[in-house]
Amino acid sequence: MLADYNGRFTMHSKIIQLLYILWALPWTLVGLGFGLLGLATGGGMRVRGGIVECHGGMLAWIFERLPIEPMAMTLGHAVLGRSEIALDITRSHERIHVHQYERWGLLFVPAYLLCSLVLWMRGEDAYRQNPFEREAFENE
Ligand SMILES: [Zn+2]
Repeated sequence: MLADYNGRFTMHSKIIQLLYILWALPWTLVGLGFGLLGLATGGGMRVRGGIVECHGGMLAWIFERLPIEPMAMTLGHAVLGRSEIALDITRSHERIHVHQYERWGLLFVPAYLLCSLVLWMRGEDAYRQNPFEREAFENE
């Protein structure tokens, strides 16, 4: 019976995992689009722990032009980085964002941006004070 229970538990976990993947899929597809752009322009792509990590090429050029010049950015189950080293340095932080996408799904980006907007309107740090970033920095 224990084997049966374990079998069902494993199947249950796989279904939950599939739902997380589907729930975050719209943003993952956006991330993969940018990842393919990076790959086509000299960058790289790899899978680590079920997460697609993309780096370099046009991605590095884009990152250098973003206002806060991030080293990496998570979109669903895809993480974009300036370089492989940037992905290694930020991996634990970005994994927290992956879990946030699994919780918020399609709503993650609007919720994140709304938090940043409210903080910016209050004159606070729209990045560091953002609750999604605070959770990531506290748990990385
Ligand atoms: Zn972050």
